[in-house]
Amino acid sequence: MKSRWVVKAGSNLVCSGGSLLLRAWMRELAVLRKQHGVEVVWVTSGAIASAVDRTGFGKRDRSLREKQALSAIGQPMIMDLYNIALQASGLLGAQILLTYSDLADAERRDNFRNTVEQLLSWKVTPILNENDAVATEEIKFGDNDSLSARVAKVVKADRLVILTDVDGLYERDPKQDPKAKLISNLPKIAPSLLKELASSEARRKKGGRGTGGIYSKVRAAGEASRHGIDTWLIRGDRPSVLLDVARGKAIGTHVGKAK
Ligand code: GLU
Repeated sequence: MKSRWVVKAGSNLVCSGGSLLLRAWMRELAVLRKQHGVEVVWVTSGAIASAVDRTGFGKRDRSLREKQALSAIGQPMIMDLYNIALQASGLLGAQILLTYSDLADAERRDNFRNTVEQLLSWKVTPILNENDAVATEEIKFGDNDSLSARVAKVVKADRLVILTDVDGLYERDPKQDPKAKLISNLPKIAPSLLKELASSEARRKKGGRGTGGIYSKVRAAGEASRHGIDTWLIRGDRPSVLLDVARGKAIGTHVGKAK
């Protein structure tokens, strides 16, 4: 049976994993399509972080306009990596940069959807990012988590997989309590959980390269699951992560009805 996933890769992973990790992911995409009938719309972050790593501009306390300019520098850099990785697995990719207002406008949303449908029918993988040079929602907050949930809704995906640098959502912050257990399934996201995550994240000093923490991921999972889209929050650099999701292996945190 054919299935459609939106997969989102966070800035930390894209930058630290580099070309090797991207190659591994794109190899998995080829197998997903061939063996599992899964077509993937890919949402990537990492443009700003790659540009900072490469140029050294805006290393500390970057202003919003510096971030926007960095995104314009870094976007072609990450697309170079994606294109090489796709080619190595015999795939072709396409870049789409979009904003929330594109998705809010009925005509532009339809145009976006038509483009995605056409690309997928040609077996071309759409690689999306927010158009940070002209819009700033995700770089103020979110690392594309919320964008990926909205995209999943618009393209009528049945799964959203958020690849990140932690194993998933824990009962308590594992940095404070190393014995905290990973939550493997949440049928839905309660508003009280979001509130709790938002306040503990506000207390913690921000680290990492993207703007999204676990709160923005859980919020995105809640948004997707409200529309019947099964969501996974998973460590993205574990081997065969996407194939393991396709095989129904219990990894990361799954948000939706228990399998
Ligand atoms: N769209 C941004 C990028 O590609 C997201 C990163 C962030 O949230 O800082 O860099």
